[in-house]
Amino acid sequence: MKNVPEGATVEGSLDGRPLTFFAYAGGHAALVGLDLEQKPGAHTWRVAVLDREREPRTARGQVQIRRRDFPVQRLQLPPAMVEPDPETERRAVLEGQRMQTLYRTITPERLWRGRFTRPVGGTEPATGFGARRIINGLARAPHGGADYSAPKGTPVVAANGGRVALVAEFFFPGRLVIVDHGLGLYTLYFHLDSVEVTEGQRLERGQTLGTVGATGRATGPHLHFGAQVGTARVDPAALLNLSVLD
Ligand SMILES: [Zn+2]
Repeated sequence: MKNVPEGATVEGSLDGRPLTFFAYAGGHAALVGLDLEQKPGAHTWRVAVLDREREPRTARGQVQIRRRDFPVQRLQLPPAMVEPDPETERRAVLEGQRMQTLYRTITPERLWRGRFTRPVGGTEPATGFGARRIINGLARAPHGGADYSAPKGTPVVAANGGRVALVAEFFFPGRLVIVDHGLGLYTLYFHLDSVEVTEGQRLERGQTLGTVGATGRATGPHLHFGAQVGTARVDPAALLNLSVLD
């Protein structure tokens, strides 16, 4: 959005959910995240420029969200990883809630700049985003991230500038780092073998945060890389392909 007067603020929403605008390339922009289970169809957006001096200027319109089909993945895992005992189940639920609470926390400052970089070296694309998972014959939650297969010990780097929001060892994700890029954008790094950062630490794009491992629910060493815009699980490939002007 361009030609916004100095001192004016920009507000907007998609389907009534507020968007967070930031100064970008001489104008204002907001990052919209669509969850992998978002229903296709027409969605209404609204933008307002609020200026103390004049009447607010508003615009509204619709975006069409197209259907995307995801692959089906069949996995065999040790029963203990799929049907945890009640205590472990409770633990996993609490850990999930803790992450959801984090994703709803919006740091009002943009901590990233420029293009996003892949979190492991090489050129092989990550796989499995959105895959409908059938584990030991039962349908489970879709895969919310993308997996890079890489040998244990491979360095894992921050996809862009941010602040370490969480370092933990959780049941399903294993040893993990979550990076807050500001304005509701988070990247997730799961199943790590080692972690080299601490909570609150500022990271540059490309800075090593840990190494690839197979901790948590993993069939072998790989990096599970996720991206959240608020509670929306977005395709990390969309983030890496984002053409960024500044
Ligand atoms: Zn994964």
